[in-house]
Amino acid sequence: MNAIETDNMKEATQKAWNKKPLIISGPCSAETEAQVVETAQRLANTGKVDVLRAGIWKPRTKPGMFEGVGAKGLPWLQHAQRLTGLPTTVEVATGKQVEDALTFDVNMLWIGARTTVNPFSVQEVADALRGVDVPVLIKNPINPDLELWSGAVERVARAGVKQIGLIHRGFSSYGNTEYRNAPMWHLAIEMKRRNPEMKIINDPSHICGRRDILMDVAQKAIDLDFDGLMLESHIDPDNAWSDAKQQVTPERLGEMISNIIWRAEDVNSEEYHAALEKLHQQINHLGDELMQIIGQRMKIAEKIGQYKKDNNITILQTNRWNEILERAYAQGEKMKLSREFITRYFDAVHMESINHQNTIMNS
Ligand code: PEP
Ligand code: MN
Repeated sequence: MNAIETDNMKEATQKAWNKKPLIISGPCSAETEAQVVETAQRLANTGKVDVLRAGIWKPRTKPGMFEGVGAKGLPWLQHAQRLTGLPTTVEVATGKQVEDALTFDVNMLWIGARTTVNPFSVQEVADALRGVDVPVLIKNPINPDLELWSGAVERVARAGVKQIGLIHRGFSSYGNTEYRNAPMWHLAIEMKRRNPEMKIINDPSHICGRRDILMDVAQKAIDLDFDGLMLESHIDPDNAWSDAKQQVTPERLGEMISNIIWRAEDVNSEEYHAALEKLHQQINHLGDELMQIIGQRMKIAEKIGQYKKDNNITILQTNRWNEILERAYAQGEKMKLSREFITRYFDAVHMESINHQNTIMNS
C-alpha cells in the first residue's frame, strides 16, 4: 500500500471502530483466494458489514483438522480489503503472526479464546504489539474465568495498545448440548461492568455452533447493549473447511443484521424517564426488603447453629436441605421462577447460611 492508501485504511478502521453496532463478518477460515475475495465482495454488497474477518492460523482441538492456510492467505485478505475498502481483522496467537499480519496491512487483530487461556502466549502477542497502533480485540478464555480474561486485557494494555475491545464467544462447559459454548451472559456483563470504557462484541457463531439459533443469540446480545457482533459467513457454508454448521451465506448474514431489532439504549423523553424512575425505585425498595429478609434468615440460621453446637449435631442435614429445595421448586413454579434460578439462589443462600452456622459452632 502507498502512503495515501494506508491513511485511507486507517481512517476507515477508526470509523468502523467507533461505529455502534460494529459488525465483523467473514469466513471462519480463509481457504482459497477466490473464496476470500468472493465472500468479502458479497458481504460488502450487503452494506451491513464494517470489518472483514478470516482465520489464517486456526488453533484446532484435534491434529489433522484443518489448521488454516497460514501466511499465504494474508495477500488474499489484502486483495479483499483493496476491492471492498473494508478494514480486515485476523486472529493472532504468536509474535510472528502479529508481525506477518501487520506486514500485510491487517487493520485489527484479535486474540482467540484458546490463546487467552495461556498467559505465556498472551504475553508474547502483547510484546509483539509494543509500539503498534491497531485496535485489538480479546476473546474470553474458553473456561469461565474472568481473571484470566482481565489478565489478558492488562497484558495488552501494558504493551501500550490504546484501543482494546472484548469479544464474548461463550464458555466451554461439559455436556452442554444447546450451545457449542454456553453464553453465561452474566460473566460478559460483569466484564463490561469492570471495563466500562471498552467495547464488547458478541460472537453468536462460536456460542451457537449451529445456524438455527444464531439470530436468538444475536438479538439477545443487542438487547443487552453489546457494541457489535462478530458472525462467520461463507459462500458455501455446508462445505466450509472449518465450522461448517455455524456459518451462513453473506446474503443471509445481511438479512440477519436487517432483522435484528435495534433498540435505543436511552431516550430523552421526560415521561419515559419518570416512569422508569418509578420502576427503579420499586426495584430498589424490593431489593432492600430482600436484604432485610435474608439478614433475618441468617440470624435464624445462627440460632440453629447455636442449638446444634449445644447438642453436638452436624451442620448439614441433607434431608432438611432437600425439603427446603422441594418447597422452593413448588412455590417457584407458581411464581414463574425457573428451577435453574431457584437452585442457584438457594445454593448461594445455603452456603452463606452454613458459613454463619460455622462461625457460631466454632466460636
Ligand atoms: C474463530 O473466531 O474462528 C475462533 C477460532 O474462535 P474462538 O477463538 O472463539 O474459538
Ligand atoms: Mn470459527
